[in-house]
Amino acid sequence: MSVKIEVADRVKRLPKSYIFAEVAKRKRAAANAGLDIIDFGIGDPDFGAPPAVVAAITKNLQDKANHRYPDTEGTREYREAWAILYERDFGVKLDPEKQVHHLIGGKEGIGNFPNAFVNPGDIVICPDPAYPVYDEGTILAEGEPYYLPLRAENNFIADFREIPEEIARRAKIFWSNYPNNPTGATADLDYFTNLARWAQRWGVIVCSDATYSHINSFGNPTPSFLRAPGAMEVGVEFHSVSKTFSFTGARCGVVVGNADIIAGLHRIKSTLDSGGSDFVQLGVAAHLLGCSDYVTEINSIYTERRVAFQKVLADLGFGSFDSNATFYVWDKNPAGWSSEELAYGLIEQTGVVLIPGNGLGRTQGEGYIRGSVACAGLESIEKAGTRIKKFLAKRRK
Ligand SMILES: *Cc1c(COP(=O)(O)O)cnc(C)c1O
Repeated sequence: MSVKIEVADRVKRLPKSYIFAEVAKRKRAAANAGLDIIDFGIGDPDFGAPPAVVAAITKNLQDKANHRYPDTEGTREYREAWAILYERDFGVKLDPEKQVHHLIGGKEGIGNFPNAFVNPGDIVICPDPAYPVYDEGTILAEGEPYYLPLRAENNFIADFREIPEEIARRAKIFWSNYPNNPTGATADLDYFTNLARWAQRWGVIVCSDATYSHINSFGNPTPSFLRAPGAMEVGVEFHSVSKTFSFTGARCGVVVGNADIIAGLHRIKSTLDSGGSDFVQLGVAAHLLGCSDYVTEINSIYTERRVAFQKVLADLGFGSFDSNATFYVWDKNPAGWSSEELAYGLIEQTGVVLIPGNGLGRTQGEGYIRGSVACAGLESIEKAGTRIKKFLAKRRK
């Protein structure tokens, strides 16, 4: 008898392919067809991590004590370094023993989190547009995503007062992400204070994704949700060295905050994984607090690129949002262009890679594109502008 290979229903409920994998496939096809690629696709910086961090990891790798299984929760040094960073940069006090837990990158923790807290049919409130892992992790845990729109007229701040009572009552988790991917919007402490109050009223866990707190044009980190009064009773925050240190390959993230919530996630993680390499954690821990010059430098580069790209796109008739954070631009397409028509047409015909907004916003993303300036310099931005202009003109004729 032949075996029918069939994935589980929860896998079938995922989008047909992960958006970044889909774009990567089309990018490879364009490159194979001989096009010169200018990549504004995935947010994956190419500066290289701070040299001091790399040197410390190399040194720790030599020590055979670090060749053995790590602890799922992370090394003491790693957790202490994040606790000190949270106090220094956000004014948030954490017990490194119970309130700080290593993750194999923020994505892993975000993706696994609903498994620890969601029963089938529970609602998980996800911003829209958003990083796709919030709702896809929810679907894998057999929860139901509720898409809360981020609207341009609200500067892409999620308005939780819009959530109907019957949804709030059934909600288990509220995902918040500021500075925001893909819009670049930032939230202030007043907003987080109101969010903590809302979450307490409805008994909802707040998961704040602060990955981009240090990637901004302000010269200081943006506020942490956990600084808001009452936040520690309802929430946790996810962070990572991926963006702050341009070190996505380290797979080194953290979840901090409410000890009981972290203990819940730990039950899943200690079942499924054995943590992340100690030599990476120890190298990161040695310099987590000492790379401010590096961060200042990459921020000045990102600011210059973001401003330049926004100007190029605005001149071509895109509707832009002047954000102060992240390395993304989130722009409304010129009239009449759907997300995929524009993004996939550009890849295929010009080699310019952008992410179609509908892949990031199930209800709000259509008609938008996201561009990342993580690894595209000023010259590439100018060159892409010329190509996009030609591409748009062809259809207008
Ligand atoms: C990049 C990113 C992360 C974390 O990425 P990791 O490399 O897994 O640490 C988390 N959230 C958002 C919104 C991101 O863009």
